[in-house]
Amino acid sequence: MEIFDHPTFRMACQQFDLVADYLQVPGPERDRLKFPKRSMVVALPIRRDDGSTTVFTGYRVQHHMTLGPTKGGLRYHPDVTVGEVAALAMWMSWKCALTGLPYGGAKGGVACDPGKMSPGELERVTRRYTQEMIPFIGPQVDVMAPDLGTNEQVMAWMMDTYSMHSGHSVPSIVTGKPVGLGGSLGRREATGRGVGYLVNRATDTIGLDIAKTRAAVQGFGNVGSVAALSLARYGVRIVAVSDAMGGVFNEDGLDLWELQKHVAANRTVAGFPNSEPITNEQLLVLPCDILVPAALERQITEANAGAIQCRILAEAANGPTTPEADAILNQRPEIFVVPDVLCNAGGVVVSYFEWVQDLQSFFWGETEVVDKLFRILEGAYVQVLNLSRRHKLPMRLAALSLGIRRVWEAKRTRGLFP
Ligand code: NAD
Repeated sequence: MEIFDHPTFRMACQQFDLVADYLQVPGPERDRLKFPKRSMVVALPIRRDDGSTTVFTGYRVQHHMTLGPTKGGLRYHPDVTVGEVAALAMWMSWKCALTGLPYGGAKGGVACDPGKMSPGELERVTRRYTQEMIPFIGPQVDVMAPDLGTNEQVMAWMMDTYSMHSGHSVPSIVTGKPVGLGGSLGRREATGRGVGYLVNRATDTIGLDIAKTRAAVQGFGNVGSVAALSLARYGVRIVAVSDAMGGVFNEDGLDLWELQKHVAANRTVAGFPNSEPITNEQLLVLPCDILVPAALERQITEANAGAIQCRILAEAANGPTTPEADAILNQRPEIFVVPDVLCNAGGVVVSYFEWVQDLQSFFWGETEVVDKLFRILEGAYVQVLNLSRRHKLPMRLAALSLGIRRVWEAKRTRGLFP
C-alpha cells in the first residue's frame, strides 16, 4: 500500500498499531481495519478566468462501509495527497464509531489553493470534482461535508451538480450546506461549539475554574473562530489566535467581536489593533490553561511537545499531535488531552443530524440540534474518560480503542465484504 505513504498516513497507522496491540487484534485483521476500502484519484481540467486551462488533482478515500455509508469532509489545500486523505478518512471511521454514528469514514481533497482562485474558478473545480465522483457517491454511499478550505457555498455547488444529474433535488448528498438548501441549523457552529462543551467538561474533570482560564487558539477559520467564541461564552479569556498569515496576542484578552470584523475586512487576524504579533510557533508554547490547535495536522511534534505550557490540550484539528509528541505528553500528567476524534466530533454529529433531517424532509430547531449534540458528546466523553481512568490509558488510546473496537466487531460479525 505504498500509494498511501505520507507522514500523516504513517502517523494514523502508528496510532492504529498502538491500539491494535492494546486490543490484541490478530495480524491479518489489522490490514483489513487499516487500509481503505476504496480510493479514487481524478484529473480536473478547469478553464481559468484568463482563458487558460489548469488540471487539478482530486482525491476521495472511503475507508470502510461496514456500518453504513461513508462520511467525511472535502478539503482544498495545495499540499493534499492521497496519503493525507487516507489518514483523515481513517480518523473519521474511528470518530464515527466512537460517537455511535452509522457511518464509515471518508475524506476527499483537491490539491489547489482556494485563496488564489476566483469564485468562478472554485465553482468550476467543485462542479467538475462532483461530476467525476458521481459513480462513487450518494446519500446511501458516501456523503461529503466542508473541511479545510471549503465551506457552505462549495457544498451548495456540489449538491446542485449532483441534483442536476439526478433530475431532482438531493439535499442529503452533502452536509454543511446553507440552511436555505436543506442544511441544518447549528451545523456551521457544531465543531467549535463541541470543542467549547468538551473543554468545559475537561476543566471540571481536572478541577479548573473555567471562568479563570486563558486560551490560545491556532487557526481562526470555521472551527477555530467558533471554538474561541464558544470558550469566551464560558468565561475563558482568549489571549492569542493565529492563522496561516500570522498571529496576535493580548495578555488582557482579545475582543473577538472586533477581531471577527477585522478578519472579514482583511482575511487574516494579523495586524489586529490592540494586540502584539505572535508566530504560530510561539503561540503553541505560550503559557495558558487551554491550547486549541484548530488548523492543520502535525503541529505538536517532538520538537515542541516538551515546551507546551497548557493544562488542557483540546485538539480541534484532525491529527495535530504526532505519536512522538504523544510519547512526551504521556510523561506529562499535568496536561489533559482531549483527543481529536472526540474533541472535534461535534461537526460530524451535526452532519449526521443534517443527513437525517434531509432524508426525512423534516427539520429541527437549533435548540433541539444543540441539545442532541451535547448529549452525544457527553456520552462519548464519559466513556472515554472512564476507560482512560479504569485502565490507566492516555485519553487518545482510550478514545481510539473504543472506536476501533466497534469497527472491528462489526467487521467480524458481517464477514469479509464490507
Ligand atoms: P478553515 O479553512 O475554515 O480554517 C483553517 C484555519 O487554519 C484558517 O484560519 C487558516 O488560515 C489556518 N491555517 C492554515 N494553515 C495554518 C498554519 N500553518 N498555521 C496556522 N494557521 C493555519 O478550516 P476548518 O474547517 O476550520 O478546519 C480546521 C481543522 O479542523 C482541520 O484540521 C479540519 O480537518 C478540522 N475539522 C473541521 C471540521 C469542520 O466541521 N469544518 C470538523 C472536524 C475537524
